[in-house]
Amino acid sequence: MTRAAVRGFIEAISGANPEPESELEYTDPYTLLCAVVMSAQATDVSVNKVTRKLYAEAATPAAMVALGVEGVARHIRSIGLWQAKARNVVELSRILVEKHNGEVPHDRAALEALPGVGRKTASVVLNVAFGESAMAVDTHIFRIGNRTGIAPGTTTRAVEDGLVKRIPPDLLRHSHNWLILHGRYICKARKPECWRCPAVAWCLCKEKTPAQE
Ligand code: SF4
Repeated sequence: MTRAAVRGFIEAISGANPEPESELEYTDPYTLLCAVVMSAQATDVSVNKVTRKLYAEAATPAAMVALGVEGVARHIRSIGLWQAKARNVVELSRILVEKHNGEVPHDRAALEALPGVGRKTASVVLNVAFGESAMAVDTHIFRIGNRTGIAPGTTTRAVEDGLVKRIPPDLLRHSHNWLILHGRYICKARKPECWRCPAVAWCLCKEKTPAQE
């Protein structure tokens, strides 16, 4: 896909939502980081449900360490992988207190050194909390990159690199959320809703879904 077409595609999906926001609820970089760690294999809705109660009790690294693994686990049992997530949230909080003055570091390497934090989670925090043009490739973005021809690739890193290379710099920062929302609500995994897709004119997918199907 040409750069002009990529611009057309991104501008089309951005149309209704020029300042897209994460659907995870958070109040600062720390609560965002913990929410993203807890969102692996869980929906944003299910994470928001548990973090509302968890953050009412502990919303800082020091408070989370004091609450402890058992205390965190008590709040997050309804989401997948809750045991590992409870351990990771407490351990990463301990590291933030001990090594980063209780702050979330604005640094990819330091973020990725935290337990439960990989490249994707670090990218979300860098993008949403710190305003960087980082591209976190989740399942939706991986699918869209391949399906539409914007950034085909067999690995998330290849899709990430393709998106960063082709999306115009002025659109890159918000593209993370625009693409996620587009994948969640229109370009769905099993049956994309091409008949109401604002980017249909730029999409290279050969099998577009008609409305009557
Ligand atoms: S036209 Fe269909 S396949 Fe292409 S981006 Fe839109 S919903 Fe996805």
